[in-house]
Amino acid sequence: MQWETVIGLEVHVQLATQSKIFSGSSTDFGAEPNSQASAVDLAMPGTLPVLNEQAVSMAVQFGLGINAEIPEVSVFDRKNYFYPDLPKGYQTSQMYYPIVGPGEVEISLDDGSTQRIRVHHAHLEEDAGKSLHEDYHGMTGIDLNRAGTPLLEIVSEPDMRNAKQAVAYLRAIHAIVTYLGISDGNMAEGSMRCDVNVSVRPKGQAEFGTRAEIKNVNSFRFVERAIAYEVERQIELIEDGGKVVQETRLYDPDADETRSMRTKEEANDYRYFPCPDLLPIVLDPTYVEQLRDALPELPAEKRARFESALGLSAYDAGVLSANRATADFFEEVMAICGDAKQAANWVQGELSGALNREGLSIENSPVSAQQLGGLLVRVIDDTINGKAAKQVFQAMWNGEGDSANNSADAIIDARGLKQVTDTGAIEAMIDQVISDSPAQVAQYRDAEPDKRGKMIGYFVGQTMKASRGTANPQQVNTLLKQKLDALC
Ligand code: ADP
Ligand code: MG
Repeated sequence: MQWETVIGLEVHVQLATQSKIFSGSSTDFGAEPNSQASAVDLAMPGTLPVLNEQAVSMAVQFGLGINAEIPEVSVFDRKNYFYPDLPKGYQTSQMYYPIVGPGEVEISLDDGSTQRIRVHHAHLEEDAGKSLHEDYHGMTGIDLNRAGTPLLEIVSEPDMRNAKQAVAYLRAIHAIVTYLGISDGNMAEGSMRCDVNVSVRPKGQAEFGTRAEIKNVNSFRFVERAIAYEVERQIELIEDGGKVVQETRLYDPDADETRSMRTKEEANDYRYFPCPDLLPIVLDPTYVEQLRDALPELPAEKRARFESALGLSAYDAGVLSANRATADFFEEVMAICGDAKQAANWVQGELSGALNREGLSIENSPVSAQQLGGLLVRVIDDTINGKAAKQVFQAMWNGEGDSANNSADAIIDARGLKQVTDTGAIEAMIDQVISDSPAQVAQYRDAEPDKRGKMIGYFVGQTMKASRGTANPQQVNTLLKQKLDALC
């Protein structure tokens, strides 16, 4: 039996507001427990929530960024349930009239192809507090700093058919919210987490299978692994004559498995009702249009422009537009050196290799975009060859040269890396190499003409060495061939 996987994601994005969605408490991460929870966050009697306008603006920007319908009116509802980290006894959310209507997100896959995933809607809600289990023997501590932090929950249609697509979708959402600057996207700190809905069905069947919802998965890798485990579990279960039950599951990264949390029968009845303390949000169309006009170029547009206007491959364009910091870095290097392909190669090659080795993000790159651009100017105008360029890059990485405009020139001068293109000088080095290598010359002479091409490598190597890597490799090649063939 052939099976098909169906996946839908509910992504929770923490919005980068200074204060909470309904109070003036700070949203800063990592503060002393319970130092940032106000009476409003706790819904003390007599307090009233006041909606944070920034949260509204950010949600609308997201909606515009995915070409969604933005309804004029949206409404907050109370989602009632009892849990220690929810002192209000309800979460303020949007059930029936969300702030963002249907839209779509373009995802890009490893082979460079793109695909559209529909978004059902996105709604505003507040986060709950956090239960602390360590340090409390037989008890649970509660930190309410996170209570009331604004979240945007983005609900996809069940449009994904494998784990790679789900991860690509999550990456696309991550790119959009960070491009817009509406979230720091920091998954390790919980700024982005998702509920993964997974079902399987026999290939060709029209109806969806029963889904399991894996709650609160907080890394790209875990999304992929949780789906892989869950798909296998469901297929095995059905093939053994069992039935998938609709339930909430938890992914345990240590055991690399999902476990049941609660089934539908035990599910809460949330008794949603409109929050009487908050007015509906009514958006003025001119306000929405102002936000639309102020939108930055988003990842999908950038990717398309990198391909069509700069002539980059689909793969390069995808990698370089995947996050804003990388895209900005690349564009700055390109603006300085004027060559998109060189800039793309260096950002993805030498630079990202070095960053990966040291576990640094591009924002903390020891080599700035200005420095790399300056270096590439000297590669493009033939001041240095590719080999010397790598040395200059390494020197910059280690802090050599001044970090101002053209530290490349300072390093090239200090290390004598200027490329030798003077034919006379190269010829002199070649003559020396030839007279120092009588045995190799004899071998060359005795070889079949079609084997000689390979044998020239030795002489190129010796000449480059004699020039300490500074000779122009193309010239060395051409001149060597002429001189050696003249000896045959
Ligand atoms: P609920 O309101 O009960 O959470 P929804 O219908 O709103 O359920 O769906 C929640 C998420 O589950 C959405 O992202 C949706 O795409 C996804 N989903 C719904 N049905 C399936 C299914 N059969 N298989 C996989 N995902 C599904
Ligand atoms: Mg749900």
